[in-house]
Amino acid sequence: MTLVAIALLGAIGLLVGSFLNVVIHRVPLGTSVARPRSACPHCGHPIRARDNVPVASWVLLRGRCRDCRAPIPGRYPLVELATGAVWVGLGSWATGPGDQIGLLPWLLVLGSAGIALVVIDAEHHRLPNVIVLPLYPAGVIGLALAGLIGGRWPIAAAAVGAGIWLAVIGGLWAVSRGRGMGFGDVKLAPVLGVTLGWVGVSAAVVGLGAAFVAGGIFGAVLLLSGRAGRGTHLAFGPFLIVGAAVGLVLGPPVARLYLGA
Ligand SMILES: [Zn+2]
Repeated sequence: MTLVAIALLGAIGLLVGSFLNVVIHRVPLGTSVARPRSACPHCGHPIRARDNVPVASWVLLRGRCRDCRAPIPGRYPLVELATGAVWVGLGSWATGPGDQIGLLPWLLVLGSAGIALVVIDAEHHRLPNVIVLPLYPAGVIGLALAGLIGGRWPIAAAAVGAGIWLAVIGGLWAVSRGRGMGFGDVKLAPVLGVTLGWVGVSAAVVGLGAAFVAGGIFGAVLLLSGRAGRGTHLAFGPFLIVGAAVGLVLGPPVARLYLGA
């Protein structure tokens, strides 16, 4: 990827991250993400355009509202930085050895939604339908676009990926009667599985495994550090999404390793 492309993806990612902060704040409240304009939740003063520049404004304001000096959580610049980094990361992945440039538009949509879902699920223990359900039609369009651009239609592998994720997450949801997994996880699983399957069945398998490894490690750390007891409910959505990212990166090399290619 050229420096110009990296800078462009990073800059758009930062702006998208700024919008994701609005999504993360308003969707759990059930209010519109389009209006009204952003305001300080403490004093209600509308945010000026110059105070709405991703990351930079937060740094210049030293993390405080210009009007009432109420602290602005560090989550805001972190979400913006994370989104910028994910956009650059996905861009370099898509233009890398696998040549998945056709998949990039959909990955950028899914990755951005994923960041919002990670934060919302971690804070509120839910994966809102208004974010998850539109990913179904968006995914169909995104994968069709990938097929048209890339000239490859790995429909069977994509279906296998969706099936594996749905079977495992849906199975755990059914067995645990919704305590181990939420139904939001079940709805999100096929979207992640179908996308990884499109890349390769290995990506779908590695991604699902990575989700459980990540969740297991995190849960063990919480238990051992005394921050959680046996009854503590851990939101699993963030691990599904992080696992999917790991599967995307590590799936293809793992497949090559096993096939001895
Ligand atoms: Zn204020």
